[in-house]
Amino acid sequence: MICMGTDSEETEPCLQFCRRSEKSFVAMAVALARTRDAEKVTASDVALIFFTTFLIVCTSTVIKLGSRRLRSYWARTRVVVIGAGPVGLTAALVAARSPFTSKVVLYEELSRWGMIRRVQQIALDSQSVKYLQTLGVDFGNMEGCWGNGCFFTRIGIFQEYLLSLVEKLKEKVEIKLKTKFSEESVKELVQTRCRTLVLTCDGIQGESARLLGLPDQFIQEPGHAYGAVALVDRPSQQQVPTAEKRVHRLVFDLSAYGKDFVPKSPDADGFHLKLFGSYRNRYMCIAIQRSDSSLVKSLRMVMDPSIMRNIFQESFNVYRTNDESRLTDSAALHHMRFSPRLFEVRLSYRRESVAFLDELDAFVVAEGDTSRFFNFNSGMGVNLGLRGIETLAEFVSVVALADTRTAVVDALREKSQHALSVSKHYAAHGMQQYMFS
Ligand SMILES: Cc1cc2nc3c(=O)[nH]c(=O)nc-3n(C[C@H](O)[C@H](O)[C@H](O)COP(=O)(O)OP(=O)(O)OC[C@H]3O[C@@H](n4cnc5c(N)ncnc54)[C@H](O)[C@@H]3O)c2cc1C
Repeated sequence: MICMGTDSEETEPCLQFCRRSEKSFVAMAVALARTRDAEKVTASDVALIFFTTFLIVCTSTVIKLGSRRLRSYWARTRVVVIGAGPVGLTAALVAARSPFTSKVVLYEELSRWGMIRRVQQIALDSQSVKYLQTLGVDFGNMEGCWGNGCFFTRIGIFQEYLLSLVEKLKEKVEIKLKTKFSEESVKELVQTRCRTLVLTCDGIQGESARLLGLPDQFIQEPGHAYGAVALVDRPSQQQVPTAEKRVHRLVFDLSAYGKDFVPKSPDADGFHLKLFGSYRNRYMCIAIQRSDSSLVKSLRMVMDPSIMRNIFQESFNVYRTNDESRLTDSAALHHMRFSPRLFEVRLSYRRESVAFLDELDAFVVAEGDTSRFFNFNSGMGVNLGLRGIETLAEFVSVVALADTRTAVVDALREKSQHALSVSKHYAAHGMQQYMFS
């Protein structure tokens, strides 16, 4: 493997020579023109000067282009991915396919079985589906179902499928299952002594970003909505992937709870409800556009949890699928967990999600839930993580080729701007896209 340091040492003197010779030849030509002007310049002298200058410029351009090609031919980076969740596995797949990667090392603290048996359902929206197809994911070969242009599957199934794709690239990828990335692993990185890109994809509780020096400061962006979520665990039910159901413009009759819960004028768009997850882990969420109506204010401050319990229980019983049994009072009381009142939907994202560590010659980038997350389960969390990965292939090449201080700073700036635009876009449009339409 050729590290950037070695590579830049090879090409930079060559480029400097070009620049120097180009300048000095042009200066010589100008000087010759002046001398001749003092005497008498003939047409053939002028032609000779222009021809010589033209030749020099052409030669130096060819050398410059050649050296740039040579550099992109040799430049390689090592990629370390921490966490084999949906985002980490996708990142490993992208990195392993890049011609600018020398090796990918994937750390995962769980065993293969531990990964495969993760139960929650995930939904991949059409943009994520298209992106994953470009990486060779064949949705026809994965257990799941379609609805509203989204693909629904269990997270363990998705991870198992991606892991099998990554394993096919075994000449480039080293998979370290049951291996927690720790301070010891950081010491190993120090010994590597070559350009490295470290992607921390270890989820919402992940600690590796902090271990590698990314500050644990998060910015909160308002989602312009209020919401509440509920979960019903039914171990006796099927675990098969199930399409979500969205219902719009709902008005709840809460008059039994007093006049504060009777809307004076109905909220423009009403409530939006989503039922998702497998029959075993059934999720519900309700959301409403940010509003100052008396009903919304009351539901944000209510102390009596029975109001929300009734909203979720009734919503479930009206909009459940034909295959599902009703949620009884006793099941709602004992087996349903729910938010007791409406809360403000917010997106949290890292103030700094990208860094360059001089001593390791390493770029560190936080991706997936480690980088940004909603406080509201809309059933589309994975997509947010995949948006960050969509520019990874390009970033790997930028990291491999960044051989000057300016290039490193430009790479950092570009990546953090992309991370920021993903977060801002999601905060502004995520609820609209995944709840209100
Ligand atoms: C209960 C629940 C329900 C959800 N429901 C939905 C849903 O219906 N639809 C949806 O789209 N999304 C849902 N989500 C969100 C979705 O699961 C996450 O957004 C998604 O898993 C994030 O992927 P990730 O790869 O960033 O992180 P994770 O999936 O959390 O993966 C992180 C991986 O890193 C590993 N790891 C952690 N620390 C280390 C370490 N130090 N060294 C090595 N490995 C490490 C972990 O073992 C894990 O495998 C749900 C989440 C939860 C918790």
